[in-house]
Amino acid sequence: MQPPERGVHWLTWHGHRRSDLPGSHASGLYHSATVRIDEIIATTRPCFSFEFFPPRTEEGVEGLYETIRVLKPLEPGFVSVTYGAGGATREGTVEISGTIRREYGIETMAHLSCVGETRDRLAEILGEIERAGLENVLALRGDPPRGETEFQQPEGGLSSSAELAAFISERFDFALGGACFPEVHPEAVGLEADVAFLRTKVDGGARFLITQLFFDNQVFFDWLPAARRAGIDVPIIPGVMPITSYAQIKRFCEICQATIPDPLAEAMEALGGDEAAELELGIAYAARQCHELLAAGVPGIHFYTLNKAPATRAILGSLRAARPWERAPAQPAAVSAS
Ligand SMILES: Cc1cc2nc3c(=O)[nH]c(=O)nc-3n(C[C@H](O)[C@H](O)[C@H](O)COP(=O)(O)OP(=O)(O)OC[C@H]3O[C@@H](n4cnc5c(N)ncnc54)[C@H](O)[C@@H]3O)c2cc1C
Repeated sequence: MQPPERGVHWLTWHGHRRSDLPGSHASGLYHSATVRIDEIIATTRPCFSFEFFPPRTEEGVEGLYETIRVLKPLEPGFVSVTYGAGGATREGTVEISGTIRREYGIETMAHLSCVGETRDRLAEILGEIERAGLENVLALRGDPPRGETEFQQPEGGLSSSAELAAFISERFDFALGGACFPEVHPEAVGLEADVAFLRTKVDGGARFLITQLFFDNQVFFDWLPAARRAGIDVPIIPGVMPITSYAQIKRFCEICQATIPDPLAEAMEALGGDEAAELELGIAYAARQCHELLAAGVPGIHFYTLNKAPATRAILGSLRAARPWERAPAQPAAVSAS
């Protein structure tokens, strides 16, 4: 498939896009040509995207499709579906990604990790992704499975996201994304080594990068020049996770070793576990964070939605009303891509 010409907005390029959103995912199929995410980012500024995970239960899957139905009118540039540590959540990635693409007409990226997979199995999964009509893959190494502390290269498998990106590029024509770490990946010996490795991911075929969640924009602004100095010239989209439950976010941050700044932690602690108040503060904080990032010229925001609509809908509504990207510097060299 040929990508759209540069400058052609992807929404207008979708020949069969329907405005009559079906009430249920079971009704209404979309047969529009797919568009690669690197092209979407290049032609849609800012590009807002939403990340979902494959639920473990039928009820959870229905809840996810309801979330997508609520978020679709916000016209995300794309959405993505994570790849789990095993079992049903893995199989769910391709199935749910294909359903979102087919039945909601939203460009979707399937995540894929190297954990526990042989090269043959990776090739099979990539074939399934292709047959599901998807053109976009986030190439990851993945975290060690629960109970294990270190990533082990599977026998006959791959050892890193850079290897996976190269493996995919040699065999398939997906638009590839990769993950990056403004706080520096916990396994990296330091910033320079981490961005040097990130460069190999881009050399392996990653056409855009999405960051790990962070709460302090200054960490991102300080890290970005190092990535650009390492020769990484692809778009880098900040990943933002609105806090909807402080206890849950604390657990996440412990796992991925992301820092919650002291003033934010103190403000959350002061709410004494009132989840409604945590959600309100979480939305206000993330909206402020996104405003600042967009005003600095980032190419978009990737929302970690946790399969829930309200926080993302509120924040994106506020951003679209205030349009901070219109105040971005004309040539925000380090922040925007190349
Ligand atoms: C946007 C995003 C989406 C994610 N989605 C998922 C998902 O769907 N499923 C899931 O399981 N996890 C997911 N993760 C988590 C991710 O898998 C973990 O953060 C994991 O620890 C690293 O994955 P990676 O692909 O970045 O690994 P890699 O980039 O391969 O490696 C992680 C780090 O280890 C170091 N490293 C690795 N190999 C080398 C080498 N050869 N030489 C030098 N340094 C090296 C580098 O510092 C590198 O940054 C996601 C993370 C992000 C940011």
